[in-house]
Amino acid sequence: MTLKDSSIKFEEHVPLGQYTTFRLGASCQGIIHCQTPPQLEETIRGLTKENKKFILIGGGSNLVISDEPLDCYVVRYCTDIPIVGQNGTVLSVCGSTKLDHLALFAAQRGLEGVNCTTGIPGTVGGAVVGNAGAWGKQIGDVLASVDLISPAGVKKTASAQDLQFTYRDSILKKTGDIVVSAVLSLQRGDAKALLEEREKILAERKTKHPDLRYEPCAGSFFRNIEPTSKAGKRQAAGWFLEEAGGKKLKVGGAVIFQKHANIIVKSEGCRSQDVYELSLQMTRVVKEKFNLDLVREVRFVGKFRGMPSDVREIIW
Ligand SMILES: Cc1cc2nc3c(=O)[nH]c(=O)nc-3n(C[C@H](O)[C@H](O)[C@H](O)COP(=O)(O)OP(=O)(O)OC[C@H]3O[C@@H](n4cnc5c(N)ncnc54)[C@H](O)[C@@H]3O)c2cc1C
Repeated sequence: MTLKDSSIKFEEHVPLGQYTTFRLGASCQGIIHCQTPPQLEETIRGLTKENKKFILIGGGSNLVISDEPLDCYVVRYCTDIPIVGQNGTVLSVCGSTKLDHLALFAAQRGLEGVNCTTGIPGTVGGAVVGNAGAWGKQIGDVLASVDLISPAGVKKTASAQDLQFTYRDSILKKTGDIVVSAVLSLQRGDAKALLEEREKILAERKTKHPDLRYEPCAGSFFRNIEPTSKAGKRQAAGWFLEEAGGKKLKVGGAVIFQKHANIIVKSEGCRSQDVYELSLQMTRVVKEKFNLDLVREVRFVGKFRGMPSDVREIIW
């Protein structure tokens, strides 16, 4: 792989688990670390020109990468240094910026609209693709437009409407277009109140979510259940799992987080295959008890024993 820009870091023979919150995943043909739009564009063009197969990841917080090495390159678009510009209530942010860094940036400047994303791991790019959010609010609500690059290297701009946001979903999951940067239209708010709310959110997350240092995971495994009528509310997948006895399930080192039945955590000796098989058991118990089909939120990458080939959805 030839890259002209020497600031782009390239790694070989490194387990991808280092770059996922689940701490799971074998190696790949090479990891290319991009932090800025020019680095990303050069990398995508280079890979396309050389006909190299690749996938793109952000913070790796919504992924289970296989135990078997990936037969492709991995572009990691993620930076610890926030890249955000402000023009009044409008923020322009790089897709590689961490979502929580964006939330903090906005709160400190008294801008309201992304405080709900406080403490969610991952990048702005990953959040746009999956319309990340919490407490009934999501990033798609405040997104004005995005700059995209297609896996073939073609640049374009799309409006929020073009992205067809729904609950934890956007058209980008189907097109595979990469979010280079995003423009968000926020509202004036009170910085002090937003920062206080931020502290409350962080404290609540600390009590409800696994501590990633000791209990690696990828957050909620399945989407909440869509209401059957317009009047209905979305129901927590965790409730159905709990009622169906899901908390007792375990495969190898993959176990259910005891405070939340919709989260799989990695314990000693856990393999990605264990997570895959446990997720199948979770869907089975809910189907048997409630005749409901759980829909996965977390994405599997690579090869898993017994998995239908069409599930390997993020290999472009
Ligand atoms: C402890 C914990 C708590 C969580 N809480 C929440 C929550 O409250 N709400 C919520 O919505 N989610 C939550 N999540 C899930 C996860 O953090 C979000 O889905 C996050 O937005 C994923 O972003 P990422 O950068 O990590 O994406 P990755 O996991 O790296 O990738 C996920 C998908 O997005 C694609 N992708 C990543 N970056 C880009 C880009 N720039 N352009 C195009 N495609 C891209 C990848 O190809 C992949 O298909 C939680 C996860 C954890 C571990």
